[in-house]
Amino acid sequence: RLEVRNLVRTYEGRRVVDDVSLTIKAGQVMCLLGPSGCGKSTTLRMIAGIEMQDSGEIWVDGKLVCDTRYRVPPERREIGLMFQDFALFPHLSVADNVAFGLRHGSKAERRARVEQLLERVHLTRHIDDYPHQLSGGEQQRVALARALAPRPKIMLMDEPFSGLDNRLRDGIRDDTLSLLKEENAAVLLVTHEPEEAMRMADEIALMRAGRIVQRGAPYNVYTRPVDKAAVAFFSDIN
Ligand code: ATP
Ligand code: MG
Repeated sequence: RLEVRNLVRTYEGRRVVDDVSLTIKAGQVMCLLGPSGCGKSTTLRMIAGIEMQDSGEIWVDGKLVCDTRYRVPPERREIGLMFQDFALFPHLSVADNVAFGLRHGSKAERRARVEQLLERVHLTRHIDDYPHQLSGGEQQRVALARALAPRPKIMLMDEPFSGLDNRLRDGIRDDTLSLLKEENAAVLLVTHEPEEAMRMADEIALMRAGRIVQRGAPYNVYTRPVDKAAVAFFSDIN
């Protein structure tokens, strides 16, 4: 369970994240949806611990992870990350990429976890290949398996499918969603594509100019937009 309370981040006097609060339960997918520059990635980076907020608190499963005085480093937050360009390690095989974050268990247990995840993302036959031997979509599937391998409580995804062509995207979205549900992580998925949010979210948080202006189930946000700007933003879905 992820809880974010009153996050604020200012660049050069401008509040690019302005009092953002959200709660995501285990097994739930929240899509942070909004136009370019509205502060989505900055919000996600603060939760990941890559960037420090000016104020506000981040809690994971009831434990304080970060406020203005206290900060758990990123690698101890039990958070998985997946970005558009968060590359695989080119010198490691697919299996070793997925095993990279695994710290616990015997060698056999770690291997079993790697095999389980690669089977789930349909890449068993590529287990000993290297990243350059895979397509872009396959590489993103490996990145997903790598992020989920240590069983993170929170999964943060920033436009993970935006580099893929349309033909591939629907399949990988559906596969990703079912694996995320199986693994029971609390998921924050950042996107500027309404269609992706409609397809993947349990809840949409619509962001504009640093603030969450509307939130709710996809159908409700889509059918009852909060204002004209929200209508316009959703209008490119068909
Ligand atoms: P996109 O959909 O294009 O990825 P975004 O919603 O993820 O956009 P952010 O990357 O969070 O937007 O950026 C929010 C605002 O903060 C933008 O106006 C950006 O220019 C500004 N910004 C981000 N990082 C910095 C930085 N390190 N220094 C100064 N300004 C920054
Ligand atoms: Mg961004």
